[in-house]
Amino acid sequence: MRAGTGKEGTGGEGTGGEATGERLGAALEGGCTCGRIRYRLTERPLFVHCCHCNWCQRETGSAFALNAMIEVDRVVLLAGVVDRVATPSASGKGQTIARCPECQVAVWSHYAGAGEAVAFVRVGTLDTPAACPPDIHIFTSTRLPWVALEDGRPVMEEYYRRSEHWPAASLDRWRALKG
Ligand SMILES: [Zn+2]
Ligand SMILES: [Zn+2]
Repeated sequence: MRAGTGKEGTGGEGTGGEATGERLGAALEGGCTCGRIRYRLTERPLFVHCCHCNWCQRETGSAFALNAMIEVDRVVLLAGVVDRVATPSASGKGQTIARCPECQVAVWSHYAGAGEAVAFVRVGTLDTPAACPPDIHIFTSTRLPWVALEDGRPVMEEYYRRSEHWPAASLDRWRALKG
């Protein structure tokens, strides 16, 4: 599939879009711990959640999960084939977690809400996780008390309305996905 939805040509005629893609590719590659799974995001994520819910805490063994939402056709596997593991979720509808078949590190999930068309990429598996800082903090009613939220991003006790927080370009991409 083509990457990009109208951003082509920002760097000039003809090859502008391609150059942008290569720059992103270098920044947005990741993989598992054993190296068998390698992937590349071919576009910026739609939106990045920092989720402080109990489910994410348990699944990561940590204080929160960092999930970069992106169209699944913009996640390119460079090496390996993921195992798809059916896992319970807070909604009761379940989620599918994509894991390395060897080291079992989770690289992304699909949730019932957004479906198979969207991957929730685990930002910590990127080579440069700092490239995808959170756009929003959600389910902070269960934030661990020693986690300080001082990055200036919106802080939601529970969930949020996409239309109130997503940038216009991401909303357009979402509509294209659902249309
Ligand atoms: Zn692995
Ligand atoms: Zn969560």
